[in-house]
Amino acid sequence: MTRSLEGKTGLILGVANKRSLAWACARALADAGMRLAVTYANDRLEKSVRELAAELPGSIVLPCDVTQPAHIDAVMASIKAEWGGLDSVIHAVAFAKREELEGDFFHTSKEGYMLAHEVSAYSLTEITRKALPLMEGRDASIVTLTYIGGERVIKNYNVMGIAKAALEASVRYLAADLGPRGIRVNAISAGPIRTLSSSGVSGFGGMLDHIATHAPLRRNVTQEEVGDVCLFLCGAHSRGITGTILYVDAGYHIMGV
Ligand code: NAP
Repeated sequence: MTRSLEGKTGLILGVANKRSLAWACARALADAGMRLAVTYANDRLEKSVRELAAELPGSIVLPCDVTQPAHIDAVMASIKAEWGGLDSVIHAVAFAKREELEGDFFHTSKEGYMLAHEVSAYSLTEITRKALPLMEGRDASIVTLTYIGGERVIKNYNVMGIAKAALEASVRYLAADLGPRGIRVNAISAGPIRTLSSSGVSGFGGMLDHIATHAPLRRNVTQEEVGDVCLFLCGAHSRGITGTILYVDAGYHIMGV
């Protein structure tokens, strides 16, 4: 591994445990030399996130519930005080009520719809706006995580699919806004991987089996494969790419019947 991101700084939102895609991204970036600010969503996760972050040299750990504007302000203030600037933001945060990740989509409550969008889509825009003063003019990169359920109907993904569609459109609008300021914005569309969040989608095991038999590579993807693409999107090799949804899904997105 080359230390291609030595001297760079990054903010990672969405680490819950070792299986989190955010953790795989953190490992890949830290291995390449990036110093990281890792956030935890609530008190329940603080201990485990602190234990994980202890494996990342030079990292800092901060609280951040993305529905709390004051938390996001405090994260940016801490990063400004600690490092003065920010080269990458990894947004790997999503939430929907478990009961709305099964059955018919039309049963989605207004409250559940708004909550899913606030956490899983709007937060990218608010975090980007607040990170902007720290990222401007640094060839910086913002990466978020999405899923093909934002483009196509995936059974039980329901309101999260609608939120992912909003997230992907946000990537395009943010990329257009921020390109002139030297900041790229992209999304990784990952295939299904067993994590805390994905286990909340009803029938998730069946989705893994389906991919293993139908994707061109005839297998599922791993956290590490997502982390490696995150590394690519945060580094100089992807300097010509912005506003893109990049699939890390063993090729599943190209398949028809
Ligand atoms: P994960 O480990 O459960 O990570 C999701 C994170 O979002 C958790 O740390 C969760 O904290 C956090 N979160 C929820 N509400 C939050 C809030 N209000 N403020 C701050 N953080 C909050 O699951 P994951 O699969 O790695 O998910 C990461 C991203 O990848 C998500 O955007 C997901 O949609 C996307 N993705 C996942 C897959 C997959 O199959 N795993 C595929 C494609 C895309 P709590 O545990 O406290 O809720």
